[in-house]
Amino acid sequence: MRKKIVAGNWKMNKTLQEGIALAEELNQVLAADKPNCDVVIGTPFIHLAKISDIIDHKVIGLSAENCADKESGAYTGEVSAAMVKSTGAEYVILGHSERREYYHETYEILKEKVLLALANGLKVIFCIGESLDEREKGIQNQIVKAELEGSVFNLSADEFKNITIAYEPIWAIGTGKTATADQAEEIHAYIRSVIADKYGKQIAEDTSILYGGSCKPSNAGELFAKPDIDGGLIGGASLKVADFKGIIDAWKK
Ligand code: PEP
Repeated sequence: MRKKIVAGNWKMNKTLQEGIALAEELNQVLAADKPNCDVVIGTPFIHLAKISDIIDHKVIGLSAENCADKESGAYTGEVSAAMVKSTGAEYVILGHSERREYYHETYEILKEKVLLALANGLKVIFCIGESLDEREKGIQNQIVKAELEGSVFNLSADEFKNITIAYEPIWAIGTGKTATADQAEEIHAYIRSVIADKYGKQIAEDTSILYGGSCKPSNAGELFAKPDIDGGLIGGASLKVADFKGIIDAWKK
């Protein structure tokens, strides 16, 4: 059975103190009312070590939002997968469209990052998704397939079991525009079929595929009700406990 997951992506938000307060509040709220899905928070690097000490890792997983494509050494300003792991984090988000677009992360760079993350015992939440232009041209399936082939289909079947996919149409991220549940389901089912072609039906059935893009408490229920949508990667709505909890609770309905 594949996991249901609600993962937050704080992006470049929250000072250390604000982040600690947010994690403490979420930890308390979920201790009082246990989720029936896996919950992960993706935080900036500076928060990881402190937050790792605060949260109950049995209830909340901890993720970085990036890691370096090099193992160690003279790469000023970079943070390696081993460093991320040493904070107590269990996950890293890779391939986010903001990293692909603003920091020019290519398929090859992401391939290296994924390999280093897995080699250091991190699970990867790997983001894929098309732009508005690509959706309007009707080539969204080709795009997500190429992103998978370019950066994660080199993995062995055993390695691939540590990958969670996040389908995030770029036109829906932070825009308030959500893919309809039917639009999302259609491409999630396609992604699962591409994984099945590569790794076989069982691994495809066991792979969690999250939806991301303006997911909020009011639309999470409809999205999560679809058979191939296994949860969400949540940006804006992960910055307030009430909103994030509202999305987590969509799995209780
Ligand atoms: C994201 O960037 O991963 C995301 C899904 O953002 P938002 O929920 O704000 O659209």
